[in-house]
Amino acid sequence: MPDVAVLAGEPPLTPRWEPWMRAVLADPARCAAAIDDHGSPVNLLNPEPLARNATELVDTASARSVDLGVFFARKANKALCFVDAAARAGHGVDVASHAELTQVLDAGVRGERIIVTAAIKPRPLLHLALTAGATISLDHGGELSEVAALAADLGVRAVVALRLALPPSSGVAPTRFGERANRWLEADLSGVEVAGVHFHLNGYAAHERGLGIVAACHLVDALRARGHQPWFVDAGGGVPMSYLDDPAEWDAFWAHQRAAEASEAEPVTWNGAPLGRVYPFHQRPVRGAWLGLVLDGGAPGEGTIAQALEGRRLKLHLEPGRALLDGCGVTIARVAFTKHRSDGVGLIALEMNRTQCRTTSDDFLVDPALLRFSAPAGPFAGFLVGGYCIEDEVILKRRLTALQGVGAGDLVVLPNTAGYFMHILESASHQWPLARNLVWRPDVPWALDAIDAPAP
Ligand SMILES: *Cc1c(COP(=O)(O)O)cnc(C)c1O
Repeated sequence: MPDVAVLAGEPPLTPRWEPWMRAVLADPARCAAAIDDHGSPVNLLNPEPLARNATELVDTASARSVDLGVFFARKANKALCFVDAAARAGHGVDVASHAELTQVLDAGVRGERIIVTAAIKPRPLLHLALTAGATISLDHGGELSEVAALAADLGVRAVVALRLALPPSSGVAPTRFGERANRWLEADLSGVEVAGVHFHLNGYAAHERGLGIVAACHLVDALRARGHQPWFVDAGGGVPMSYLDDPAEWDAFWAHQRAAEASEAEPVTWNGAPLGRVYPFHQRPVRGAWLGLVLDGGAPGEGTIAQALEGRRLKLHLEPGRALLDGCGVTIARVAFTKHRSDGVGLIALEMNRTQCRTTSDDFLVDPALLRFSAPAGPFAGFLVGGYCIEDEVILKRRLTALQGVGAGDLVVLPNTAGYFMHILESASHQWPLARNLVWRPDVPWALDAIDAPAP
């Protein structure tokens, strides 16, 4: 990107910019107009890459004779353009709340294309799911009884997947979600139609995903022996993606950060903060190549994981959130001012707060772009700070340098934020309004996503 300034970390972490994002960066006036119209920051969305990302998974599976169903995990981004894109491409949706389900149904997605995986399922959610014919992922025995009784009251079928918790002896972390296989086999399943077995793992290890699929296949066998007819295994989300293309930059960053944490190099984070839990912003393999590795893994005594599924005529379902949203959004915020902290540390203040680009990960390890409107100046190194009245209100924890300076009115563009960074932790603290969500188009003015558009 020759003409666009960057806010580069030391060492730099250069993001991958989709072609549409480069077009955005090439039109600073349009970006400034969007901020003038909608306030700062704005989330700019383009649902187009979603279908490409999903196809990569479907093709990988079908090359191994596995029939893959993709269910977009909506909690990763609330905008409705992604629901429409998933539905248009023939995929399903994974919903985590009553509001998510209502909106997906209103968007015209049919119940059989929806799985409800909400951690807590209040009665109105179960009622709506049952009447819509959505699949409910059952978390525990109490939920099973409630669903069976409610379905009987309503006179409808209860289509369910049993959420399977893998035993800690298999090496996966203990989980609050689902039940162990023996619990499900002891339960009274007579009031529900067991369509599948579901699990979702933290982390991205391909071999753990393989263990999960094998365990789910074994539960399917036991259920079939009891007369049930499950036809899919749902391996959840957690399909890995990469924000950075260059492994050397990622390694150099960590070499420096580890040295800084051992007091052997100059710290480059806010107050020298260590970085604990962070997303692997660079990783390989990702998406299709990763799924290939999962499916080619061994299933003890029955060939590969793909063959274990095929041999049972089981469909594989996945619920990717982040990996489908790769390349689907940027966050644009206006610089309010620059100054120095009382001890001289540089500060670049944004009209934005830290919940507007944040996940449970400790930091966003990707360098933003800078659209310059202020007068040319010398280099400025500082931290992006936000609007909450807290000393540690930093948006990115790394110090960033603007080589040609930075000033009020400039725009900071945070790349590839659609997966989780925009919404999963956003808050309206201080009564700051939530960021508006705009759908990018090459020509026409960017329009509000339906999630923000006033009801007709
Ligand atoms: C969060 C979640 C997902 C999506 O996870 P990603 O890491 O975004 O792919 C899918 N299924 C369930 C049950 C989840 O909780």
